[in-house]
Amino acid sequence: MSGTSEGPAPAADLIRPAVTERHIDTSPRTPMPSHPTAGAPPGTATAETRSEPEETLHEAVADAPLDAVSALRSGRTFGAAFAAAPLAMAVVDREDLVVIANDTLGLLLGTGSDALVGRTASDLVDLASDPRTWHAYREVLGDRQARLRCTRRIKHPDGYSLWVQVTVTPLPQEEAVLLSVADVSARRELQARLRHLQMHDPVTRLPNRTLFFERLTAALEAEAYEESGTGRIGLCYLDLDGFKAVNDTLGHRVGDRLLAAVAERLTRCAEQAGHARAATPLVARLGGDEFALLVEDSTGTEQLADLAESVLRALEAPFDLSGRRLSVSASIGVVERHAAGTTATGLMQAADTTLYWAKADGKSRWTLFDPERNAHRMTRQALSSTLRPAIDREEFVLEYQPLVSMEDGGVRGVEALVRWNHPQFGMLTPNRFIGLAEEDGSIVQLGRWVLATACRQARRWQLDHPDTKPIFVSVNVAVRQVWDSDLVEDVAHILAETGLAPHLLQLELTESAVMGSAGRPLQTLQALSDMGVRIAIDDFGTGYSNLAYLSRLPVSVLKLDGSFVRGFQYENPDGADGHPNPADEVIVEALIQLAHRLGLTVTAECVETSAQAGRLRGIGCDTGQGWLYSRPVAPDRIAELLTAPAVQAGAGKP
Ligand code: C2E
Ligand code: MG
Ligand code: MG
Repeated sequence: MSGTSEGPAPAADLIRPAVTERHIDTSPRTPMPSHPTAGAPPGTATAETRSEPEETLHEAVADAPLDAVSALRSGRTFGAAFAAAPLAMAVVDREDLVVIANDTLGLLLGTGSDALVGRTASDLVDLASDPRTWHAYREVLGDRQARLRCTRRIKHPDGYSLWVQVTVTPLPQEEAVLLSVADVSARRELQARLRHLQMHDPVTRLPNRTLFFERLTAALEAEAYEESGTGRIGLCYLDLDGFKAVNDTLGHRVGDRLLAAVAERLTRCAEQAGHARAATPLVARLGGDEFALLVEDSTGTEQLADLAESVLRALEAPFDLSGRRLSVSASIGVVERHAAGTTATGLMQAADTTLYWAKADGKSRWTLFDPERNAHRMTRQALSSTLRPAIDREEFVLEYQPLVSMEDGGVRGVEALVRWNHPQFGMLTPNRFIGLAEEDGSIVQLGRWVLATACRQARRWQLDHPDTKPIFVSVNVAVRQVWDSDLVEDVAHILAETGLAPHLLQLELTESAVMGSAGRPLQTLQALSDMGVRIAIDDFGTGYSNLAYLSRLPVSVLKLDGSFVRGFQYENPDGADGHPNPADEVIVEALIQLAHRLGLTVTAECVETSAQAGRLRGIGCDTGQGWLYSRPVAPDRIAELLTAPAVQAGAGKP
């Protein structure tokens, strides 16, 4: 709004041609162009307005005979030119008072030019209301600054407003300044209309993505640095559920009308929310069927939750679109946080994630951003992207947990349990990454590594303890390994390579992996079993528990799920350590008996107490696994156990 270096200084030339070439070079002054249009952008209204009279005059001075020139220089002609100039001008003295004004200025300001004489110029064109402009104006008046140019909004006596561009240039020899005023209202209006078009969505007439981001960025800056507000910001990021179907089945015109109707309801919600508060939330259409409600100066999550709730309610009633009734629901991601340290991108990412949760949680709801859930998502992403290279870098290790005979406490075998020694996140348990590895298929490569490492280790123990009965190793196999790799070939190859006998390898598959197996999985199981490898059903009791069916598969071991074991052992009627629940025990006992009759052995998982072990033994369970005997441990700890006569309860406890 303050002075610029652009623009001509025509009046100075007009009144006193002798100083035409004068350059005022005191900083921050800038040289005045000798030609009136030299500094103005070509083709602008200002340049055109000013060039005409002066060029004529220059030509007149150059070409006129000597007496005519002196006549011109007498000042009379300059005065006439000043009066007739189509640009509104006034000469203003150093005290800010109008000395003389031309008719154009009189017309523009709605008073005769004579009436302007003696008036305060800064009042006429509003130079005093803005401190920066006022300061710059004073500098020009004091001849300390070369020029001031600014745009002001002034009121015409007839009641309408005008946008004017005001230029003030010193007339040094005159102890005065030249004030010129150009009406730029039409240009401003056009600019405003163009901006509105650029910033609004034609379908809903709501602010569009561009305007939304502009406002969001400005709000974040303001909230972060101004102390007056709450310093917080909130956002409801909304997506219509199933809008695509409306578009696809009823056409884009109906879709557009629905969007416009939704926009109207959202605007009403925002207005209602605004009644109680200082400001109305900004409603914007971010694209497609996505809308946002931005709450500046928010007071906390509750405010946003209320807004989201009211939006869902507002959308409940069906829409009547020229006789057609349509119902839509929406999912809303809600984020509310401190503005300081938040970026527009960061906020939108959080909102996007939260919206995704709202959809995933069942749509037609709002969900609040949850940093923990987000961290989990981030780690999931980070883990999933580094899984494959981690296999190559051998970041995985195996721990082994003893499988102990219930009868004599001797270690019969061990289960190999994989861990990921992640360089960033530390030692990760399989629950964190096995699912991911199954999703992206890297489980095949990882599973092969586990199998080979476990078999090599089992063979090592065997060779290192020739006098002890060799123990078997039990390896978990994911269902995808059966489908996506040649498990039979892998197993055969690994057994041959490590020299481990097939009966010392047990493979654990879950019920769901083998249930209903026909074709390839069944052939695989059969081939492995034929090879002498034992198949165990892991986590038995959590799935179908169809024993009769399982017995027809080449399965030889049931691993009773931990929850099952825990559940059957005790009931807690009064919250304290309970008593054995005979009903559950009877069921498990029957199960074990049935399994035995079908030729299966039973291993109980998660045996944590000797009481549990005692009962399991009592009802005929063959093998136990759990903290009572040992936590999963490194291979050398297993070697130590092999030399011991029987596993001491609590061995390997940290
Ligand atoms: P799982 O095969 O049922 O393994 C038993 C899990 O129970 C292990 O958890 C073990 O540490 C835990 N556990 C053992 N004793 C007790 C106890 O007394 N109390 C309690 N509360 N827990 C006990 P872990 O090592 O976290 O493994 C979890 C699961 O990850 C395994 O369940 C298995 O399904 C999977 N997994 C582990 N290693 C591999 C692998 O190499 N390949 C595949 N595909 N899956 C694996
Ligand atoms: Mg297992
Ligand atoms: Mg298990």
